Order: sequence, then structure tokens, then C-alpha cells
Amino acid sequence: MNLHEYQARDILRRHGIPVPPGEVATTPAEARAIAERLGGKVVVKAQVHAGGRGKAGGVKLADGADAAKAAASAILGMTIKGLTVQKVLIAPAAEIASESYVGIIVDRASQRPVLMVSPAGGIDIEEVAAKTPDKIHRLAIDPRYGLLPHQALTLGFKLYNDVKQARAAADIMQKLYSAVYAVGASLAEINPLVTTPDGTVQALDAKIAIDDNELERRPDIAARRDVSAEAPEEVAARNAGLTFIKLEGNVGCCVNGAGLAMATMDLVKYYGGEPANFLDIGGSSSPQKVVAALRIITSDPNVKAILFNVFAGITRADDVANGIVQATREFPLKVPMVIRLIGTNEEIAVEILKKAGFSALTDMDDAVKQAVAKATGKAA
Ligand code: GDP
Ligand code: MN
Repeated sequence: MNLHEYQARDILRRHGIPVPPGEVATTPAEARAIAERLGGKVVVKAQVHAGGRGKAGGVKLADGADAAKAAASAILGMTIKGLTVQKVLIAPAAEIASESYVGIIVDRASQRPVLMVSPAGGIDIEEVAAKTPDKIHRLAIDPRYGLLPHQALTLGFKLYNDVKQARAAADIMQKLYSAVYAVGASLAEINPLVTTPDGTVQALDAKIAIDDNELERRPDIAARRDVSAEAPEEVAARNAGLTFIKLEGNVGCCVNGAGLAMATMDLVKYYGGEPANFLDIGGSSSPQKVVAALRIITSDPNVKAILFNVFAGITRADDVANGIVQATREFPLKVPMVIRLIGTNEEIAVEILKKAGFSALTDMDDAVKQAVAKATGKAA
């Protein structure tokens, strides 16, 4: 689950990290009132679950309340990476002397939380990572000991030569590490961590992603979910008990089991296609789940072909077949569908599908090839 910047700032602040104050507005008038209260120059920032807001025009400096109102009306309603901006954060504008990056991610390769810092922070950090990776310093943290003071200070000196600033940065890193554990984050980033002309170090932007598996035991964090800011299909999938992640391609995939879903996506790519989504209908699939899955997949205008890949075990093939038939009665499909289905109650499933005018394949390779061919318009 992603948090908004203002929510992430709040968490950092509670953990003692210096973050400028700020308030959220949903209308230009509210933005104006907040800017008036804050006084002076402010920054107006789009609150969406996407990075790169600065480059997209979603972060604007405004000198005074009227300018803040104008900036807010420009930003509210804007779309950034497919997400509509519904809220803006208004904060006093900081004067910036330098921008660094500090982040912690839970890293699968090292099986540890990894702290990453770079003196070359700001909006071009992806480019820094790609072109000058030596400007990014990494440390895998041993969770038995946590981030030790000397380790944090060593990294603090990678950011600043000034000892006070290096110490301030080290302190922020340790607090960020505690915050990660406290909220169950899989990622926590401060970019930029700035120095001001008077030498103070503060966090100007914050991004926190919570590991979904941590939410059940952290109801206070789960309560911060902003459904209105999430992709509608992901919300629908969660409500239907499906695991769904939208991707950029045009082959809509409907699969049972996360491993098979990954393998299916690999094979789609292998045969020259691009998956439109990751979708796992899960173990015991009722026909309703299949209907919900098809509704979500078909609502994506990018989808040019649908691929069912079901290896029935606990999931019964006849349940899936009934779901497919029911779905196509509720909403006619506008794109071709390829069904591959084997396992528990396969024969019954094939009968159900046949009666409704569908055929099913048994070979996964064949099915993926056909789906890719149908999506790309090229022969299999
Ligand atoms: P992002 O692009 O989504 O990561 O949004 P950020 O909050 O990181 O803002 C992007 C950039 O806007 C930062 O790297 C800064 O250069 C600039 N910026 C953000 N807040 C302020 C501020 O208070 N004062 C000034 N001068 N620049 C800011
Ligand atoms: Mn940023």
C-alpha cells in the first residue's frame, strides 16, 4: 500500500525527522487559506501515488496566497502517470542549498533492509542510478543489530563534509530505519533531503510504501489507505479477493496461482507479447471471482486479447468455466479469448465451455502463442 507524501511526512515527523510543516487542501480556496496562514513563499505539491511529480508540473512554488490558489487550481485535476490529482499539500517553501537522497528498501537479493544514500539527490535520481551508479552508496543492514551509529555516520559523510550536517544526516538515517520497522514499510525514501543556506538538514519529500502483509496487525496504518487515489481496477480486484497488478501491455492474463501467473507472463514475453496485467484468481476460485477478474481485465482499453491459464487443483476447472460463461452473459467480450485449462474437473469444464461456444486448449505453450498472435495481429 502506498502512502501519500503528507502521510509519509507525518510518520517521519513522529519519528523525529525534521520535516517542514504543511497542510492538505482539496480546493484552490482551501489552498489559498492555508498559504495565507503559513505566510510567505509556499510550495504546492500534488498528492498522488506517483513519483516524478516535479517533472510532471505537480510541484509549484508560489509567492503568496493568491499565487498558491492559482498553483493549486493548476495542479488539482491534473493527471500524473494516469492518476488524477485530488489533493495538494501546501508547505512553506524551503530555500535549498543542496539536494541528497536517502532511502531504505527491503532488498530481496541481500534479504536485508538496504540503506541507500546519494549526494546527487533530487528529481534526476533515476538518471544518477543509471549513469553514475558510483554516486549511490549502499549498506545492507543486519536486522539483528539495526543501523549502528558509526555506519550511519560513515554514510552521513558521503553526503556532507560538514561534521554537523553529516551527524544530522546520520541521525535522520537511524530515525528512518526505526520508522521503517514501526510502520512495516517495504520502502521509505527521502528525496530530496536538503540543506538550507543556514546549514540545517531537512526532509522535503517523503515516500513510504507499506508491505501489504503488515497491514493486518497495523490497523492505524491500514486506515490511511486512500482508495480514491488508487487505480480503480486495483481497488476492484482487492475487494473481489484477487491479486491484480496493472501493467503496460495488451495481453490480459487470468491465471490461478502467483507462480503460474509469473510463468505465464514470462511466456507471453518470450513469444513477443506484453502482458497487460498480473492477475491471480487465487486458490479456491468461485465463479464470482472469475467474473470479477474478467470485468477488471475487459475494462482496460489496452487489452487486445485475453489469456486464461488455469492449472486446476484446489481451483476447480468447472468453477472457472462457469465463471467464464457467466461473465460473457453479463458483459459480451469485445476481444478474442484463449482458454487453457487442465486438471481437476477438466472434462466437465470443457463441456460447459463447449455448450457456450468456447473451446479450451490443454497446452500452455500453444495457448500463449495464440493469445500473443491475437493481441499483436500477427500469425502464431
Ligand atoms: P517529486 O518530483 O515527485 O519527487 O517531488 P519533490 O517533492 O521531490 O519535488 C521535486 C523538486 O521540487 C525537488 O527536488 C526540489 O528541487 C523542488 N522543491 C520541492 N519542494 C521545494 C521547496 O520547498 N523549495 C524549493 N526551492 N524547491 C522545492
Ligand atoms: Mn521527490
